Amino acid sequence: MGKRYYCDFCDRSFADRGVNRKNHFKGLQHQRMKKQHYDNFRDAATILAEDSMKTPCKRFFNGTCDYGDGCKFSHMTPERRQYLQQQVTKDKEEKERRQHKEESEPTLEEWLEKRNKKLRKDHPSDSTAEVHYELPPFLMSVPNLPPSLLPPTAEELLNKPQCEWG
Ligand SMILES: [Zn+2]
Ligand SMILES: [Zn+2]
Repeated sequence: MGKRYYCDFCDRSFADRGVNRKNHFKGLQHQRMKKQHYDNFRDAATILAEDSMKTPCKRFFNGTCDYGDGCKFSHMTPERRQYLQQQVTKDKEEKERRQHKEESEPTLEEWLEKRNKKLRKDHPSDSTAEVHYELPPFLMSVPNLPPSLLPPTAEELLNKPQCEWG
């Protein structure tokens, strides 16, 4: 058995001879598989825009068209168009969500968690690097401490009135 050529697009192999390969690449089946593969990476909006410039293929919609995906007329079925339109909407929503996430500021908790993670990474042995509000042990037994001595909670820091200086 000689060398075999494996075509990733078609998921099949054949004896690797120059003429075989050339014939295979020219074949309709191969071109269809290859186009399908790359279509997965093109966005739905592009596919729809390209298709909207073509007129429907009479041959395809009345039976079969031998040109397959190489046809200059549109082979777009209503189901596929609907699917692509849904894809366009999904892509758009996804993009907006991502943009929104980049723009919005982190919450105090998110910020502190990120900071603590970074400190733990930079100073793994130094636990004092973490932000930690805690009453000193000698104050724990004192009843009715003035509020100014109590450790602040995240909610209090969040709801703290904003002061403008100057
Ligand atoms: Zn192939
Ligand atoms: Zn056609």
